[in-house]
Amino acid sequence: MIGILGGTFNPIHHGHLHLAERLEQILGLEATRFMPAAIPALKDMPNVSAKQRADMVKLAIAEHPHFALDSRELDRAGPSYTIDSLISLRKELGNTSICWLIGSDAFAHLNTWHRWNELLDYCHFVVVKRPHAEALIFNAEVTALITSHQTHDIDALKNASNGKILIQEIAALDISSTQIRQQLALKADVSQLMPSKVINYIRQHHLYENT
Ligand code: ATP
Ligand code: MG
Repeated sequence: MIGILGGTFNPIHHGHLHLAERLEQILGLEATRFMPAAIPALKDMPNVSAKQRADMVKLAIAEHPHFALDSRELDRAGPSYTIDSLISLRKELGNTSICWLIGSDAFAHLNTWHRWNELLDYCHFVVVKRPHAEALIFNAEVTALITSHQTHDIDALKNASNGKILIQEIAALDISSTQIRQQLALKADVSQLMPSKVINYIRQHHLYENT
């Protein structure tokens, strides 16, 4: 069973790493892939490229034996849709269980994703609550999806390659990339929030200096 953590990773931080480490332990994942999304160059962040976001992910996970960068969304032209990544992952992985790891803030908007109704044909979702995220109340469409696919049993994820939703309690860290970008623009200390190798990379490349 493998985990996929999609995100913009702008930049990657200890919240992402902690999430992946805890879920690796709890679920017994063989490997976890970090999959940066290709986002259009944001107006207020013209100097951070997709390659740089991927480079920072690589630095952050380098020492972790079971973590890898999956750059398929960056290699593909056009908008990156999760459904396309899942279709290509499924081709590659056969019937291995795939767990899409996701914070409650992102999962809450799942019904806005391209072809969202088909996502569970390719993966499971493992949802964790982010600190300060609102209580786990979802809109009607997401709630209906949970109702029809939820399991409380990790073995159910292992016994099927896709199709289940597990809401997993972890003590998530209260860190976000938004907060880090703000701190960096203020030249504040971010050493508790992300790996030092990533901080060095940010300084060398003068990223996030005026966001
Ligand atoms: P931003 O503030 O720019 O939105 P972010 O910190 O939310 O950045 P993303 O790259 O958007 O980071 O997140 C990727 C995935 O990781 C999402 O599913 C998100 O919910 C989850 N995630 C991010 N930070 C944490 C955290 N501290 N604890 C648990 N999950 C997290
Ligand atoms: Mg986010």
